[in-house]
Amino acid sequence: MRNILVVEDSPLVLKILEHLFRQEPDLQPLFCASLGEAQVLLETSSALFFAAIVDLNLPDAPHGEIVDLVMQYSLPCIVLSGSYDEHRRDELLLKGVVDYVLKESQHSYEYAFRLLHRLESNSHVKILVAEDSDATRHFIRRVLTPHLYQIIDACDGDEALRILREQPDIDLFLVDHSMPGISGFELVKLLRQKMKRNELIILGLSADAKGSLSAMFIKHGADDFLRKPFCPEELNCRVMSSLERRDMLRALKQAALFDSLTSLYNRRAFYEQGVELLRLAQKGGHELSVAMIDLDHFKTINDEHGHASGDAALVQFSRALRQAFPDTLLGRLGGEEFAMVSRLEGTALAVELDQLRRHCATLRYANGAPALSFSAGVYHGSPDDLESMLHQADMRLYQAKRGGRGCTLNTATGRDT
Ligand code: GH3
Ligand code: MG
Ligand code: MG
Ligand code: MG
Repeated sequence: MRNILVVEDSPLVLKILEHLFRQEPDLQPLFCASLGEAQVLLETSSALFFAAIVDLNLPDAPHGEIVDLVMQYSLPCIVLSGSYDEHRRDELLLKGVVDYVLKESQHSYEYAFRLLHRLESNSHVKILVAEDSDATRHFIRRVLTPHLYQIIDACDGDEALRILREQPDIDLFLVDHSMPGISGFELVKLLRQKMKRNELIILGLSADAKGSLSAMFIKHGADDFLRKPFCPEELNCRVMSSLERRDMLRALKQAALFDSLTSLYNRRAFYEQGVELLRLAQKGGHELSVAMIDLDHFKTINDEHGHASGDAALVQFSRALRQAFPDTLLGRLGGEEFAMVSRLEGTALAVELDQLRRHCATLRYANGAPALSFSAGVYHGSPDDLESMLHQADMRLYQAKRGGRGCTLNTATGRDT
């Protein structure tokens, strides 16, 4: 939960902000209607606040004095203003406010909330700035700092490459084109051979007036380009939208690979990873085990205790499965059916599955619901192809079901472990 100081006197704007804050359970607003009230609150409890949203025109502070007060406490400050004044905006941005938001429409208020959310994640975002001009590097640092990013400087391309090698968790690389030694453009070409767009965002910079340079940067893998000189707002918007695009890409990738209910790999991702594991095992000349697992009488849980209880059972079971097999490839193949590829020998895997079954019987997922149980089939052998190994395991699972459920079979003849 983050506390946000809101200093605003207009009842209409307050109403809009209150409405928007109600939809943000992680943000807790504290409202003040004047500079005086804000002063008292900050003097006593400034450490409680994560950021501030302030109105430039308050009854006891008509000329934006609230901004200086908030900045004294080093709080990220988002300014709301009823009118647009370019000179004022630049002055405030250079003073270090996060942004200047016009009270125009629903979208501007939503933008202010987007900024608050970005501020929360920005402290984990590492930005490397490679720029040989001290003045530009300092300007960029000054503009980005209020957004809480971690900023690292490099004075030329070689230093940037060294830092990128040492700190592979850098999220965004802001790179000037004309630098002594390796040029920005060459750096982009080099880096893109190794790092994908969702691993490193690259923004090119150049004072070159030709549009062809920006096109060249982007064609060779830069995500965006800024022509110098740029205004603080432009830099911030480009950085923020690149990060948002990257996060969206990551979320899409996550959704494509993982089952949303259990967070285990989905069928497609399980098969992709499984085929790769088999390839490595073949290369290394060792055998593998696969298991197919299916919850018992699961339909009855849904029918008698509701679908939500069924979902809770699936979540609890998946968690227990993950805990029991932390380094094993696991997947939810569909419904209440799961699979795994393990380095364990077949009998050892069956023993561990039986242990998991005993643990599952103790899990509580819904009031009055029956104990969770599952049946499993295990196949151990040389890794020929995943599909046929899973088929072998599935046949044993079928036998386990026919034999009365609640057990693991690891031989085709039906010997119970
Ligand atoms: P058996 O012991 O033979 O495996 O019987 P079962 O009832 O477990 O198997 P059956 O295949 O008859 O029923 C599986 C049920 O799982 C049917 C389906 O509605 C339900 N199911 C599939 N996906 C989900 C899900 O995501 N959530 C919930 N709550 N139920 C699901
Ligand atoms: Mg330069
Ligand atoms: Mg079942
Ligand atoms: Mg089933």
